[in-house]
Amino acid sequence: MHTSDFRRYARQLADWMADYFENVEQYPVKPPVQPGDIKKQLPPGPPLQGEPFEQLMADFDNIIMPGMAHWQHPQFFAYFPATRSAPSVLAEMLTAAIGAQCMIWYTSPAAEELEERCMEWLREMLALPAGWVGAIQETASAATLIALLMARERISGFHINQKGWHGQPRLRVYASEHVHSSIPKGVRIAGYGEENLVLIPTDENFAMLPEKLEEAIRKDLGQGYQPACVVAALGTTSSTAIDPIRPIGEICRKYRLFYHIDAAYAGTALLLPEMRWMSDGIELADSFVFNPHKWMFTNFDCTAFFVQDKQLLTGTFSILPEYLKTPIDRQVNNYRDWGIQLGRRFRALKLWFVIRTYGLEGLQARLREHIRIGQWLAAEIEKEPDFELLAPVPLNLVCFRYRPEGDFSEDELNRLNEQLLQSLNDSGKILLTQTKLNGKYTIRMVSGQVETIQEDVERGWRLVREMARELVG
Ligand SMILES: *Cc1c(COP(=O)(O)O)cnc(C)c1O
Repeated sequence: MHTSDFRRYARQLADWMADYFENVEQYPVKPPVQPGDIKKQLPPGPPLQGEPFEQLMADFDNIIMPGMAHWQHPQFFAYFPATRSAPSVLAEMLTAAIGAQCMIWYTSPAAEELEERCMEWLREMLALPAGWVGAIQETASAATLIALLMARERISGFHINQKGWHGQPRLRVYASEHVHSSIPKGVRIAGYGEENLVLIPTDENFAMLPEKLEEAIRKDLGQGYQPACVVAALGTTSSTAIDPIRPIGEICRKYRLFYHIDAAYAGTALLLPEMRWMSDGIELADSFVFNPHKWMFTNFDCTAFFVQDKQLLTGTFSILPEYLKTPIDRQVNNYRDWGIQLGRRFRALKLWFVIRTYGLEGLQARLREHIRIGQWLAAEIEKEPDFELLAPVPLNLVCFRYRPEGDFSEDELNRLNEQLLQSLNDSGKILLTQTKLNGKYTIRMVSGQVETIQEDVERGWRLVREMARELVG
């Protein structure tokens, strides 16, 4: 492609993107497609000759777009948001254009140093302990795996890295029963074995019970296991329950366990001083992860991972073959030694663009508004006699179900709510997801896009009520 053509197409795409920002609402949130619908429109083999860009764009519009779910649609209330923003998109364009591979300082000095500075900014913005250092990882899942590997190497004195598990005691990992799936997955991959992940009961707010944690640790010690690591959730995925960070941390200190905090979604709320009750005791942690790609308006992927002990981190991951040695290795951070992958994208650029465009106060204002809207919705739900909240709402995720008058068993209510969610999502007007709390089928509603306003949530909530009441008639 000639640069003159590139210029023209890039301008067209700039317009395409701006139109999409303005019109995303006109798409069905979830596309009305069946498995295989998209693939069957794509030829079984690649073209032998190159095709014109216009044709490519036409197929993009006609085949690909009708098969996309629209995560930035104002009626997207499912999972946790994966936010983007205009400055983040612009930075991604530059990152793609430069096409750098930022595995070490030598291969991209500015990328490495900007990442270092942005992580220092984030550490300050979230009031994390001053001595911590951080790097960007691809996902919270990857960061948690890194933490589990650090825990393993700390307790084994780097034995497992060198000699494998042979002759090691059985190491145990602890997390709440509302643990995110990335923790059992990491426990498997890191070699602990999923049987050695001990799930700790939670209180009526779905937060881990520290006394139950200590009980489990003592029981394991009595049975010859070696407790190694605790993962606390600062905001569970089901209901944003906040595990008590300080009491868990004190137990970790007492038994010398590695302490990882998974704040994938809710960590962003620590930008707000009034929300820092959630992180009280965080200085007791060994590592902490949160996702700017969830609620901080930075395109996926961008995960911020912080550790207290840099030596332990690089000691776990550093391998230096001849072909990667450079003359300045001692003076710089080489992020290839801070995680699993060697090659790295220039992800700090979008973070820098986002933080500078909105400023700390701009980010805080948006988060406060999202939390206010979440609280408003919770209050609205409480006013309706045929709906009920199923969990506290510390932030902007609201967990509820429909419970019409009449004699319904729990099973019937579960089926009714499942049916409700299904009809809502099939309408293409809204997208919600579910969880189970105390065995109850629970509808989750969360909204935190950069442009979210109360009217969006009002509209979604109106649709939920209408469809629920139609269902029972
Ligand atoms: C979303 C989430 C994760 C996983 O995040 P990825 O970046 O997609 O790996 C982990 N833990 C919690 C609590 C989450 O909400």
